Amino acid sequence: MNGIKILLYHSVGDIDPRDNLGIRVAKEDFYRQMRFLKEDGYSVCTLKDAVEKIEKKISLREKATVITFDDGYKDNILNASPIIEGFSFPATFFVTVNYIGAVKTSPKRDWQSWECMDWDDLKELLKRGHNIGSHGVRHVDLCGLTAKERKEELKLSKKSLESALDEEIDFLSYPYGSFDDELTRLARETGYKAACTVAGGVNGWGADPFRLKRIEIVREDTKKSFKDKLEDIYDR
Ligand SMILES: [Zn+2]
Repeated sequence: MNGIKILLYHSVGDIDPRDNLGIRVAKEDFYRQMRFLKEDGYSVCTLKDAVEKIEKKISLREKATVITFDDGYKDNILNASPIIEGFSFPATFFVTVNYIGAVKTSPKRDWQSWECMDWDDLKELLKRGHNIGSHGVRHVDLCGLTAKERKEELKLSKKSLESALDEEIDFLSYPYGSFDDELTRLARETGYKAACTVAGGVNGWGADPFRLKRIEIVREDTKKSFKDKLEDIYDR
């Protein structure tokens, strides 16, 4: 199917056996995946360009692809960005405000005690031509909050990023991919231009910019499954 394929990554680095969600992709695998995009003629654009094309129904180049990262782990700038930049690809990094410059810990998941990027890292990524987006303030399931709390998360994360980075923050990634009709409306009202979910699929012309589908890439992905995810699985 013709449409924008938005890849979703979390972490790139040495495999951590405690990562029971398998969201850390090995550096060598990540490199091979990026090389595949290049060699197979994928055209990697920014999320900004992609959203514009979807909304204005500008003809989509075949194999149009966007690379995104959720959570804001330090390895994004240390390991992933040099590889991406080696292929001259732009990417979008969705960061959780409270994790910036912190070590993300979770009492339930000790694999999550991973270091996150700080403000200087984010400024550096912007300087290199990448996009920064919001992934909330606290990384909570926004659907579990009252309307007032939802608005606060959407607004505060946008404002904090904008004032610290001196950059318009147009994009949102729903924490845990959790959203409903009210949340998409609130995101629009808050001034976001688009929002990413974790629902798998391709975004064709006229797709709802506040329900963008993504293709999640995980540790277990092989050369074949990566190719399949891009070419076959979601085309049906
Ligand atoms: Zn997340």
